[in-house]
Amino acid sequence: MTASPDELSRLPVTVLKGVGPKSAERLARLDIETVQDVLFHLPLRYQDRTRIVPMGQLHSGGEAAIEGEIEHAEIRFGRRRSLLVHLNDGSGRVILRFFHFSAAQKNALKPGLRLRCFGEVRNGPACLELVHPEYRPVAEDEAPAEAASLTPVYPTTEGMHQLSWRDLTEKALAMLRNSSAGLQEWLPADLLEEYRLMPLSEAISYLHRPPPDAPQLQLLEGQHPAQQRLAFEELVAHQLSLRQARQLHRSHQGPVLDGGKSLQEALAANLPFSLTTAQQRVLDEICTDMVQRQPMLRLVQGDVGSGKTVVAAMAALQAVASGYQVALMAPTELLAEQHLKSFRQWLEPLQIPVGWLSGSVKGKARQLLLEELHAGRTGVLVGTQALFQEDVQYHSLGLVIVDEQHRFGVHQRLALREKGAGSGLYPHQLIMTATPIPRSLAMTAYADLDLSVIDELPPGRTPVTTVVVSDQRRDQIIERVRAACAQGRQAYWVCTLIEESEALQCQAAEDVAAELQEELQGLQVGLVHGRLSPQEKEQVMQAFKAGEIHLLVATTVIEVGVDVPNASLMIIENPERLGLSQLHQLRGRVGRGTVESHCVLLYHPPLGETARERLAVLRDSSDGFVIARKDLELRGPGEVLGVRQTGEMQFRIADILRDQAMLDLAREAADRILARHPEVVQPLVQRWLGRNTRYARV
Ligand code: ADP
Ligand code: MG
Repeated sequence: MTASPDELSRLPVTVLKGVGPKSAERLARLDIETVQDVLFHLPLRYQDRTRIVPMGQLHSGGEAAIEGEIEHAEIRFGRRRSLLVHLNDGSGRVILRFFHFSAAQKNALKPGLRLRCFGEVRNGPACLELVHPEYRPVAEDEAPAEAASLTPVYPTTEGMHQLSWRDLTEKALAMLRNSSAGLQEWLPADLLEEYRLMPLSEAISYLHRPPPDAPQLQLLEGQHPAQQRLAFEELVAHQLSLRQARQLHRSHQGPVLDGGKSLQEALAANLPFSLTTAQQRVLDEICTDMVQRQPMLRLVQGDVGSGKTVVAAMAALQAVASGYQVALMAPTELLAEQHLKSFRQWLEPLQIPVGWLSGSVKGKARQLLLEELHAGRTGVLVGTQALFQEDVQYHSLGLVIVDEQHRFGVHQRLALREKGAGSGLYPHQLIMTATPIPRSLAMTAYADLDLSVIDELPPGRTPVTTVVVSDQRRDQIIERVRAACAQGRQAYWVCTLIEESEALQCQAAEDVAAELQEELQGLQVGLVHGRLSPQEKEQVMQAFKAGEIHLLVATTVIEVGVDVPNASLMIIENPERLGLSQLHQLRGRVGRGTVESHCVLLYHPPLGETARERLAVLRDSSDGFVIARKDLELRGPGEVLGVRQTGEMQFRIADILRDQAMLDLAREAADRILARHPEVVQPLVQRWLGRNTRYARV
């Protein structure tokens, strides 16, 4: 080892020439503070500008460089005004399409001019198109290639251009070459050897600047040994950080919750059904956890309708009977209200007060509730994120139940856990999700949690028949709704909208409801969406439950939890816009009673091939796990875990799907490191997870 091992992880970015305080600040936003951080800011992908692709060989998807002569340029006035430039290279034709352009730009694009372009290729109405490509005029005799090697494309932030990244990484690479120690190799030597891993510095240099003869396809697909080596290290680091979080959690003390048998029996006696074997098994696992001194951290997975709520209620009884309070948190007000109703129905006959807190509980009511809670008179508190606001103080919080955890960030969950820490005790945590995550993925994503699976549905459910129908047959479907309602059934009509704006979604649902009411004279059409007040929502849902509303038009707010057994028909408009698991959840709203249920996926043609395939999966399967696995293949883990928005599962170079084969090895390696080389855990985690570890350390 040299005199200054790991030097690059301590040198601040400002040692690189041209990086002043302003750039440093910008970099800090990406968590880049040291030279090592710059080196680990790896290209997201590569562009192949090394060769010009003949137009006859182009296909849609992916980026390409092309060159050809302008045949003609025209302005089209359609839905959106656009400039179309027809290009020909003798082997085929391509259209360049611009939505934003100036008159000068248009005038410069004269027939006969040769252009070299780079951009994403996609199918257009007439032929392949490049939308807003980079382009520049070239002479006939110009050198054929743009670049000698693949061009790295870096993940970036506002104010940082790709050229700046190339410049910055160039300087860091030069420093790496000149440093005596290079990058510190934290993976133990025996592991490196056994798994035949490329030296770290070599892999890093290679990926920033792949040589001209690099196997391009392999690189583009992330299969190169240099990528695989780093992906492996990243997966190991990720494992280690989760294990650390887990160890830390275990080192705390939780309340021993060993009461409750008689209350549980009393509830069981009041239920109109008995627990399934799977429910009972999972409940036993939970109850065993809660009598330990170590706080429980358990994830319960169970498909839609598998009966997670009653299991949670049983667990809550054990906590309450032991003298502790329970907080039950759900991601939406609607779902939280549903839980409130179930819990009140089940627990109040047993003299356990159930409180309610959401963002809309205000003023005196809120004050009163907080007092009851603080005094310990509230046994179970049900609600939304509002449960972990600063001024919400529990008397003795012993169990936190979180439903549909993937909608909450890890740190939100941690904030709730802190609520119990006042007494020096950490509450037990139970997390419930209907997102069926394949086991290897779950073990990677949730290595900090124990896992229980309710793998059985209550008896007597009739499977939902699903059909995929074009919206050209919308009228027929409306007739079908009429017929079903005439027979005393009820239906959901779900509106989806791409727009992020909730206001727009609600507007769209309102329009649909008005239109359907017009069409379905004599039937009662109701409407529920995110903009209604809780009272309004409650009223509509009650009316639907009571059968006074025949057709309920809704946004995806009804995705989780809503339970109306007489509803046996669901129409989902534009299902192609949603993830498969989300659709599966929605569909779980029907098929809850004994009559045969139907789900109509009313898509808007034309459907792409992937979309067609995805909807077919849903049509052909009702098994949440099968659907999730397909979703994983077709859309990637971020979507399936629902963490895309929260960014919790973002890897720099690893890809859970692509690197599946490494997941087990990485877990094994993490075990060995923890056992034999605990001193490298922290530096590895720091190198790969940086800021994220701050959450894990809470
Ligand atoms: P999810 O797992 O999707 O949250 P719920 O807890 O909402 O499912 O349960 C769905 C429905 O099934 C509810 O009406 C619930 O009362 C009912 N249920 C739960 N467990 C059983 C069981 N063992 N037998 C029959 N019905 C059950
Ligand atoms: Mg539920």
